[in-house]
This record gives sequence, structure tokens and C-alpha cells, in this order.
Amino acid sequence: MSADFDVVVIGAGPVGATTASLLARHSGIAPERIALLAPELATLTANAARDSTARNATTRGATAHGAAAPELRVSALSRASEQILGAAGAWERLDYARLCAYERMRVWHASTPADGPEVLCFDAAELAEPNLGHIAENRALALAAWAALQEAGGQLISDRATGMHSDEDGVQLQCGSTTLRARLVVGADGAHSQVREWLGIGMNSHDYRQSAIVANIATAKPHQHTAWQRFLASGPLALLPLFDGGCSIVWSADSALAEELMALPAADFAARLDAASDHVLGRTRLCSERLAVPLQRRMAQQLIGPRVALLGDAAHVVHPLAGQGVNLGFLDAAALAEALAAAVREREDPGATRVLRGYEQARLAHNALMSVAMSAFNAVFSRESGAAGWFAARLLGLAGARAVTRRWFARRALGLSGERPALARAAQLPRSAA
Ligand SMILES: Cc1cc2nc3c(=O)[nH]c(=O)nc-3n(C[C@H](O)[C@H](O)[C@H](O)COP(=O)(O)OP(=O)(O)OC[C@H]3O[C@@H](n4cnc5c(N)ncnc54)[C@H](O)[C@@H]3O)c2cc1C
Repeated sequence: MSADFDVVVIGAGPVGATTASLLARHSGIAPERIALLAPELATLTANAARDSTARNATTRGATAHGAAAPELRVSALSRASEQILGAAGAWERLDYARLCAYERMRVWHASTPADGPEVLCFDAAELAEPNLGHIAENRALALAAWAALQEAGGQLISDRATGMHSDEDGVQLQCGSTTLRARLVVGADGAHSQVREWLGIGMNSHDYRQSAIVANIATAKPHQHTAWQRFLASGPLALLPLFDGGCSIVWSADSALAEELMALPAADFAARLDAASDHVLGRTRLCSERLAVPLQRRMAQQLIGPRVALLGDAAHVVHPLAGQGVNLGFLDAAALAEALAAAVREREDPGATRVLRGYEQARLAHNALMSVAMSAFNAVFSRESGAAGWFAARLLGLAGARAVTRRWFARRALGLSGERPALARAAQLPRSAA
């Protein structure tokens, strides 16, 4: 079998699925000429049908009682990402009862108390915003975006790309016995991107020698719709509020410590977590399995190849300490949609190098800057003792002392200021989560 498209997006994670739906809605390319390709699409379709039947059996938008437990992988979405998801038609497809708005963020150093004056505290009220963003489940984001793509008339192909060859006229993609042709291929196939490898694009990598332990927990005290982050010598610990009243933890720790923590029985792990979080939410209890993700910084040296653009984790993997990874990917998606829309208006080939270069120029430096900033934060603030620890604690205190600096940082993190694609600045979202 063979099929011909204008654009094939490889990878149906949150970024790839959102890109495909944005292109179908905003690039001017006929939606039926846009395909999303990933091996799990058939399973996702079946699961989504099952989930929607289960939801209809209760009430859509009801509280968490009786709802399935939160997924293990969640992301803190910036306002800019919410706008992009809105433009992709995905935001309105999310189950708002499973989103958790966070209204505050408290960041402090291990050498200072959690309620001391040196805590860096961002508050939505200070920005006259209802919240600082939402914690969303990664799989739900992907499901919402591919459903939006399908509704817009785009194509879903459940398969794995096994080879790629570009020539002057297009790209030939091998998927087992099937061949797809496209004028442009978008590589959104994650951190271990094969598309990037096929293009021979080099990576700037740095091994943090840390792993992030991800788990869901119950806490004795309410999370107060606050994202908490404590910098320890072994790496940052984040507690992100979840819709069911619990928290998702992202505990970045040196590899040896992470291995030790992963091997502990659940109760011992919780006791270590209580101490590491300075008991800020009281006693904790593990509610899920633990997952350890080895941490690396990875930046593709180029974002484009002949008729190919890379985005999301295929293009950059950053330290999770500021929760920016998927947010950067959504900005990539918006920038690509805008570059292609301009090309279509000018009747240009969407795979032309000139067009793709516009996308790369919009994103390469911004992504690199963010990636280096995350590494610097990790290096500076993960010092517990001595002069370096003292300096790190004072620096956080200094950043939090003045309202004007707090507002500047918070507006940047929310994606409310700085250079960003127009699709990230769109109008009011259809509805907002509680
Ligand atoms: C511990 C941790 C916490 C994080 N927290 C946050 C946070 O709070 N906020 C935030 O913004 N980011 C966060 N991130 C980063 C975020 O999780 C990632 O940036 C995001 O999931 C990347 O999405 P993606 O769609 O680019 O890639 P993925 O989700 O990895 O999707 C890749 C897709 O490609 C498909 N694929 C792969 N190979 C092929 C092939 N050959 N053919 C076809 N399809 C293929 C896969 O099946 C999949 O569909 C965190 C990361 C970690 C590790």
C-alpha cells in the first residue's frame, strides 16, 4: 500500500498530536492531506472509546470520586501552552475535572525553612490571573489532540516509521510494508528520535548523573493548589498538586541515591520523602508505582533537514526542574504552524528549506537558552552547604523579595511575556478548569 500526503507528523505524544491538529486548523493545508503516525494510535483509540463510555456512566466534570487514579506522567502547563492547545482544538476536549489549577508556586532551598522569608513565592493573584497554569495528564493531552485532529479531518495512521528517504520532490517513509510520501515530515518521535538519527543531526548532550523519580502520593495536609519545589544537594524535589487532592512528585536525585530510593519499601520511601520535603505537606503515602527517568540535557544541533522539521523532545530534552519540556514543544508546534501558514499564503512548498529555516530561526536559540538555564538552576541551587549553599538560598530570597522581580519571573514562566508565536497569545479559552 502507498499513500500521499502534504505533511506526515511522526509521533503522537502530546507535542506531535498537537502539532498535527494545529496544522490541520491553522496552516491552510487541507486537513485530509495531514497525517499523524504512531504505533500506539490503534490502542489509544480503543482506550479513548472505553474511557468515554466510563465517563458517560458518571457525570462529565464531576469531582474525582470514583474517577480513575491520576496517570503517573503529568505536566505543568503554562498559559501559553493552554492557548496553543486551545488553538489546536484540544483544550476543550480535556476532562476539566482531571486538571488541577495551581495558583501558587513556592520554591525554597534546603537550608531555609519552607515558610521563611527566603522562599520564592509566585502567586496568581499578584498577576491578576486566576491561576499560574494547570497540571495535566500527558496521555490525556495526546488523546485530546488526536481527537481534535480527527474532527478537523486529519488522518491517523497506527504504525511505526522504519525508514526515511528524502529527495527533491518529497520524503518517502517506510512503515513496514507500507510506503507513505509527504512533502514535509515532522519528527515528533520523542527523546530517542529515529527521524533525527536518519537525518544524521548531531546532539549536544550532558548527562546530569541524576534520575527523576516520578510517583503519585497522598499527603496529610492539603496541597493548597500550590506547586512546591525544594532544592536539595542531590537535586530538586517537586510536589505538583493533582485533581484528586494528592500530589505528583518529581524527585531528581543523584543516580546512586535514586537507585537506593527506588529499592526502598513504600513506607520507608515515604518517610524519606517526608524528610526531603521538610514535611511541608505532612506525612505522605505512596499511591502509585515509582518510575525512575535518567536525566540528560539533549539539544539537536539543527531543527531541520531536507523536507523534515524536528520538534518536541526529538529536538530538545531539558531538566524537568522548571517543568518546561512539553511547554517548549508546544511553542515549537505553534512556530511551525505559523511558518507553514505563511508559506501556504505565498503558495510556497511547505517542505522548502527557506520555509523550514524560518521555523528553525524562531525556535533554535530560544530552546538552547532554556536548556542552559535549566542546567544552571540545577547547578547553582542544588548546593546544600558551605558558601555555595548560602549563596543559593540568598539568591532565591533576593528574587522573591521584590514584587516587580517576582512578577517578571512569573509572567515569563506563564508565557505571558517575551517573544512567542501568535498562536500562543490567542484569545480567551472556551472554558477554564476549576
Ligand atoms: C520526570 C519528568 C517530568 C516532567 N514534567 C514536565 C512538566 O511538568 N512540564 C513540562 O512542560 N514538561 C515536563 N516534562 C517533559 C515532558 O514530559 C516531555 O517534554 C514531553 O512528554 C515530550 O512529548 P513529545 O510529544 O515530544 O514526545 P513523547 O511523549 O516521547 O512522544 C513520542 C511519540 O513518538 C512515537 N514514536 C517514536 N518512534 C516512532 C517511530 N519510529 N514511528 C512512529 N512513531 C514513533 C511514540 O510512540 C510517541 O507517540 C517532564 C519530563 C520528565 C522526564
